[in-house]
Amino acid sequence: MKFLYLLPIAFYLLPITFGCQPRVLHKDKQVMMGTFVEVLSPDKDAAAIVFSEIRRVELLLSKYNPESEISRLNKTGKLKASPEIFFILKECERFWKLSAGAFDVSVGPLVDLWGFTTKEYYCPKEAGIREALRLTGFNNIIFNNKDNMIKFKVRGMRIDLGAIAKGYAVDCAVTKLREKGIKSCLINSGGQIHCLGDKFGEPWRVAIKEPRSNRAADGLKLIDKAVSTSGDYEQFFIKGNKRYHHIINPHTGYPADSGILSVTVIADTGLIADALSTSIFILGKVEGLKMAKKIQGVDVRIIEENPD
Ligand code: ADP
Ligand code: MG
Repeated sequence: MKFLYLLPIAFYLLPITFGCQPRVLHKDKQVMMGTFVEVLSPDKDAAAIVFSEIRRVELLLSKYNPESEISRLNKTGKLKASPEIFFILKECERFWKLSAGAFDVSVGPLVDLWGFTTKEYYCPKEAGIREALRLTGFNNIIFNNKDNMIKFKVRGMRIDLGAIAKGYAVDCAVTKLREKGIKSCLINSGGQIHCLGDKFGEPWRVAIKEPRSNRAADGLKLIDKAVSTSGDYEQFFIKGNKRYHHIINPHTGYPADSGILSVTVIADTGLIADALSTSIFILGKVEGLKMAKKIQGVDVRIIEENPD
């Protein structure tokens, strides 16, 4: 009898005696923002917090949601923006300037023309490209800082926040996790990653995909960092042996052709990583790295078609 009593006490004391903690990582995933959002955390409440915040931002920024502020702006050419939308579009302006016009969220008509909005892919004629280019250009957006009014100068212009929305959404989710006291979490929103804190005292491990296979090209060890990859293998179609992908050079109207297959940016926020990875993909290695140097705390990994 004595022995039976001792057993549970001995088991109960074991973790305390040896300082062990249960190392359970809760995993969950949901389809959001047109991709899988995966959450890993020792905290079982993390996933629900992340999903609810990403859903909120998706509804706010999506051009597919007819009620979103972006859809209203695209439909009418003017909007009294909420402070959040005004902030995001001002950030878009900052990256448009930093990238010498390569990052331009007014590419909506071009993204539509190539069929990336409906996934009914199409190789447009020169005249179609010229017409869509006429409706493109961040310089054709007027901002009124006093009353948050945003206006398009050209009728038919359309904004597409696909290059920044996931990064911003993950940032918002991380802010919510911090507010709730959650210190360790990995979010992967279709290649847009945030490593919050560490994983049981070790850095989170993130692999960079080799663009033409499913192998890992590189491995990163990260604590409190955002990661974003832009590549020509995520959304594309092939016609006449040529690959046409979803990142458009706003100066030409054609998919960017800078010799980069994929670019991964590691930064402090998802918004910076997302906007910068798209920009570098369009600018190419030399100009892209010059742009990255203008922003503090970023690290860039480029995989080129023909490496030096
Ligand atoms: P992903 O969304 O696949 O992670 P990106 O962050 O690079 O990749 O964003 C690509 C998306 O950005 C496109 O699907 C399109 O909606 C939008 N886009 C395309 N070209 C540009 C551009 N030059 N500037 C800003 N946004 C762009
Ligand atoms: Mg991006």
